[in-house]
Amino acid sequence: MADVKTAIVTGSNSGIGLGIARSLAMEGHNVVLNSYTDNKDDHALAESISKAAGNKTIYISADLSKGDQARSLVEKAAEAFGTVDILVNNAGIQHVAPIEDFPTDKWDAIIAINLSSAFHTTAVALPMMKKSGWGRIINIASAHGLTASPYKSAYIAAKHGIVGFSKTTALEMAEAKMNATCNAICPGYVLTPLVEGQIADQMKTHKMSREEVLDKVMLTRQPTREFATVEQLGGTAVFLCSDNASQITGTTISIDGGWTAL
Ligand code: NAD
Repeated sequence: MADVKTAIVTGSNSGIGLGIARSLAMEGHNVVLNSYTDNKDDHALAESISKAAGNKTIYISADLSKGDQARSLVEKAAEAFGTVDILVNNAGIQHVAPIEDFPTDKWDAIIAINLSSAFHTTAVALPMMKKSGWGRIINIASAHGLTASPYKSAYIAAKHGIVGFSKTTALEMAEAKMNATCNAICPGYVLTPLVEGQIADQMKTHKMSREEVLDKVMLTRQPTREFATVEQLGGTAVFLCSDNASQITGTTISIDGGWTAL
């Protein structure tokens, strides 16, 4: 794609969001990084991506547990760059507990950040994409958007929800003939700093080597017994933004080492 687009990646000061933001930046697009913090490191990260990619990357703080902040994130990005062409709804949190003990505030926060924030950002971005006649929305769901596990009720409800929301968004885009697509990427385990920390914890708890933890604890649901990488997620997002992907819409793309084939 030759022309420069403007992309927002929510929850992108670490992990998968950061990987996707870097990949879009390396394509030359303008990129808006986001998280709920607003410190020097966040802005320095944006500057370092700009330098490495030779693009324009800025950081805009917004707490996506709040609908009005999710909406103003998109408005502020458009103020900075003129419009928003690519929206990657990636921010997400997790909490693990049986349903009867699941704290209501955690349920509400997970639904707000992992699901409702995408409704709010999409509602503001869609008219901009309609006006410009091009758009891509990529929602980061999970293998848990297609399958379930015990003790992750809110996460699984939110991730199944975002898969359904992606389909409806795609249908409304198609009705509007606006040359835009919406899809959900469903990763299995991805090697992020957060997951590295979990590996270290499991090694201590089970007194196992890294290899044993990966094979017997962490990757038991991932048949390849290998993690996906943030670069693979970034590459998939770049592909979904290409002209070759213009008829891929309203669907899910699994990057899960065979998890959902089981
Ligand atoms: P991460 O914790 O590294 O990243 C989450 C991002 O969301 C961070 O930038 C964080 O600051 C941001 N965030 C959290 N709360 C926020 C809020 N209130 N407002 C704005 N930003 C907020 O985790 P990750 O592993 O990179 O996960 C990214 C996405 O990928 C999530 O939606 C997650 O559910 C999904 N996912 C991750 C994996 C995995 O194995 N890592 C697998 C499947 C799906």
